Amino acid sequence: MDYLQGLNPEQRAAVEQTEGPVMIIAGAGSGKTRVITYRVAHLVRKGVDSFNILVLTFTNKAAREMRERITHVVGNEAKNIWMGTFHSVFAKILRVEAEKIGYPSNFTIYDTDDSKSVLRAILKEMNLDDKLYSVNFVLNRISASKNNLISWQEYNKNEQIQADDFSSGRGQMGKIYEMYATRCYRAGAMDFDDLLYKTNELLKLHPDVLNKYQHKFKYLMVDEYQDTNFSQYLIVKKLAAVNENLCVVGDDAQSIYAFRGANIQNILNFEKDYPDLKVFKLEQNYRSTQNIVNVANSIIRNNKDQLKKNVFSEKESGDKIKVMRAFSDNEEGKIVAEAIMQDRSSNGLKWSAFAILYRTNAQSRSMEEALRKLGIPYKIYGGLSFYQRKEIKDLISYFRLTFNPNDEEALKRVINYPKRGIGDTSVDKIIVAADQHGITPWEVIVEPAKYLEGKISGAVSNFAVMIQSFQVLTKTKSAYESALYIAQHSGLLKDLYEDKSVEGLNRYENIQELLNGIKEFSEREDIEEKGLDIFMQDVALLTNDDKDKNKDAETVSLMTIHSSKGLEFPQVYVVGLEENLFPSQMSLNSRSDLEEERRLFYVAVTRAESKLHISYATSRFKFGTLINCEPSRFLDEIDAKYLELDYTAKPASGSNPFFDDERKAWSRDKQPDTFSKPKPAAAAPVKTTSILAKAHVPSADFKPSDTSNLQVGMQVEHERFGFGKVLSLEGNKPDIKATIFFKEIGQKQLLLKFAKLYIV
Ligand code: ATP
Ligand code: MG
Repeated sequence: MDYLQGLNPEQRAAVEQTEGPVMIIAGAGSGKTRVITYRVAHLVRKGVDSFNILVLTFTNKAAREMRERITHVVGNEAKNIWMGTFHSVFAKILRVEAEKIGYPSNFTIYDTDDSKSVLRAILKEMNLDDKLYSVNFVLNRISASKNNLISWQEYNKNEQIQADDFSSGRGQMGKIYEMYATRCYRAGAMDFDDLLYKTNELLKLHPDVLNKYQHKFKYLMVDEYQDTNFSQYLIVKKLAAVNENLCVVGDDAQSIYAFRGANIQNILNFEKDYPDLKVFKLEQNYRSTQNIVNVANSIIRNNKDQLKKNVFSEKESGDKIKVMRAFSDNEEGKIVAEAIMQDRSSNGLKWSAFAILYRTNAQSRSMEEALRKLGIPYKIYGGLSFYQRKEIKDLISYFRLTFNPNDEEALKRVINYPKRGIGDTSVDKIIVAADQHGITPWEVIVEPAKYLEGKISGAVSNFAVMIQSFQVLTKTKSAYESALYIAQHSGLLKDLYEDKSVEGLNRYENIQELLNGIKEFSEREDIEEKGLDIFMQDVALLTNDDKDKNKDAETVSLMTIHSSKGLEFPQVYVVGLEENLFPSQMSLNSRSDLEEERRLFYVAVTRAESKLHISYATSRFKFGTLINCEPSRFLDEIDAKYLELDYTAKPASGSNPFFDDERKAWSRDKQPDTFSKPKPAAAAPVKTTSILAKAHVPSADFKPSDTSNLQVGMQVEHERFGFGKVLSLEGNKPDIKATIFFKEIGQKQLLLKFAKLYIV
């Protein structure tokens, strides 16, 4: 049993408890994922057929890495294990069983853009106010319904839901859901939520199918269980019902998808569902230094809702956590890039040792610019996927249409691209006729004379004939031959080739890259079926990260905190710790939303192995305007003894001459050397003051003075906000308001009669 050596006794016990229900709810970095990996290897070593194991992971990348490690222990047997995300695993099962629930096996998977496009068309037809019924709102509402297994029929029958919709003035929501579901069905398409919803439907309506998979998957394991929603919970529960060999691992403190319907209740239910459940505790963190673990603990104890856990590290105490202040988002990028540059050379690290984590995708811009300036190689994870690019989606839409001609979104996309003389009016006519006859646009196109009045352009028939010729071709040719043929004969390759602009060239290269990828697929030796239809099966579920062949690339990693879940890096920079950004503005109205933001911060911090940096900017461009920012309340919650403040960054010279005086004043800046202590355990009250406001130590000779002679341009000191400069005065005595730029916290407006100010 040498292969179990790398486990502590508790981990090993969990690995060896292969039978019956098992749950591990433990803190970050305590080896939960490691337990799953070893457990699978152990099962195979014990003689369990690798075809009988199902492992559900958070990303496909995580599954790939797990498979690699298992291969080291069990060799090629690892190939047979079913391993992947809920979406990819159940999409695969649905391909086999789709016809039982009325879908073609080559159903299309609509990505979010497709779903939005369907909804946009519906909202337009129904003439609805696009503010009240924004596409995002409507899609979220449908998604939430599906994740709670509420069909459109139930939605329309449920009195509570109907009352809610009516009271918010959105009485048409049920109708929209119905039309959306009907259209997706008619197009032979499932959206992301359908992959789980329809799996539930399949397992409920077809006991024989359920029985088949219950016996196939004798051993089930789920990583990141805290982020499963009801729909996923039920699938797992059903599949495990016969053998009950189910092992789930997770951390309630890392639950960060409640906004998508993930439910902590799934952990609590687990104990009720399986009374003979075995629970294992993992308390030792093997990832991070003691300082990092302590910081993480001091953050999360501010949350009221959490299961009690004890996490400790036996690694060295490590460096303190460095808090860096910048004066703008661009400067934040600059100080982060420079710190990385310096750390790398002084510690002899690789670029891949560093990760920059942010709350929102938009924050990557300033980071990217700064990294590029210093010539630091980086890679953005998540974000706009390669498969989401226009030209790639165009070509893929031809493929989609070839295998599923009812796919209306694909049809709309390419029927007149490249231009072939089928104008919008003709397309509208086709769609209206399809709606009238309750058939798909494709059915109209193949028999125009039957469904359309008047003359329709010959181009429409030519288009149909072209797609049919693709259908014939793909039956016999390899994926690559088919793809190349379609790229050429659709006219797409030529169209891109003729565009000699930089973007055009780029798009042409992207198509070449896609074709290369398909070529590689065609040449794979480990799979038998290599048709384009097989390649296409889960293209909609692929992300940039899946496409990346060079996974050990020597680059700095940039990603949102959401996509960093489960990962680890020697050095982590968490950026943008500002009120209204992190925690996000949307989260400030309820305790539960704010607690989810705090869990997100906990996830970010716990990705770091040996060194953690946190940064914030005092001003940032948002929607094109410069806004002042206050440091995040989360900084305030960290015990000051673990922190080291680095306020050495100075505003870029010449960035704004108006503040020259302030810049000089900074040189005699008194740095606050401690943050306020965090509140003990329990829930901290929601605070809105900034750490810096609180941390300002008034000068020895500070005394609020009579400010009646205050004038624009004067330097002042405020008891809490520190030093500042008067920008403007308005109103009449005694209600004069002063707008003051405080260098620590930015601009503030104060009523002079109450302000504790001192003219410096
Ligand atoms: P997260 O909650 O972030 O997903 P986790 O609980 O899944 O974390 P792992 O990723 O499995 O934790 O483990 C964290 C790190 O600690 C990994 O690098 C892992 O290899 C290492 N590790 C875990 N257990 C041990 C052990 N017993 N001996 C040595 N290293 C270990
Ligand atoms: Mg993990």
